Amino acid sequence: MIIIQLNERQEKIVEIVKNNGPITGEHIADKLQLTRASLRPDLAFLTQIGLLEARPRVGYYYKDGRNSYSVYEKMIDLKVRDYMSAPIVIDEKTSVYDGIVSLFVNDVGTIFVIKEQGILEGVVSRKDMLKMAIGKADINQLPVGVIMTRMPNLIVTFAEESLWTAARKLITHQIDGLPVVSERMDGKYEVVGRLTKSSITRAFVDLGAGNIID
Ligand code: ADP
Repeated sequence: MIIIQLNERQEKIVEIVKNNGPITGEHIADKLQLTRASLRPDLAFLTQIGLLEARPRVGYYYKDGRNSYSVYEKMIDLKVRDYMSAPIVIDEKTSVYDGIVSLFVNDVGTIFVIKEQGILEGVVSRKDMLKMAIGKADINQLPVGVIMTRMPNLIVTFAEESLWTAARKLITHQIDGLPVVSERMDGKYEVVGRLTKSSITRAFVDLGAGNIID
């Protein structure tokens, strides 16, 4: 049997979670009069060795074998909103040249094309633009509106959708990213975020570390 020696602070955290769980990292930090950031390594360690369980938006549980919360359950609890990032958007009149510059400046692979009020119109990927750049077109004159994939052919996700469903859309449609949208009263989609294969990779790493956000 392997015996793991906890340090004094880790012992205190386990006591707090035993008595108060489920409890957020923020509240544990308050009780110890420490910052959330300074507790992060201890919480990560305690979840990795399986003494505590972290559940998104609920907090930490003491794991006594009965309340075990499986990786599968954790996974289906994750929402797009936990992992989406800021969208990079341009107007359909933007030239392909400027679109390519935007890819580099923002370090992204996919750009969303919007019209007034952030309404989603199209998606333009790095290969859409690369194709034009190696052809004969004048990419300074050519607007992205001509080459983008347009509504209603866009695959989208929603902040409240499960991350797993969004990941399945990426695989099924063989694309790298999804606009995260909110549906307006008039049925139009307003862009509120971006979900990419990198977002899914981040979630995968967090799950493996037993370290999902609280
Ligand atoms: P790349 O073309 O750089 O490999 P993708 O695999 O994401 O990037 O894109 C493949 C094609 O699918 C491109 O023509 C792109 O315009 C289109 N596309 C990308 N994202 C979406 C989406 N969310 N919905 C519909 N089409 C998309």
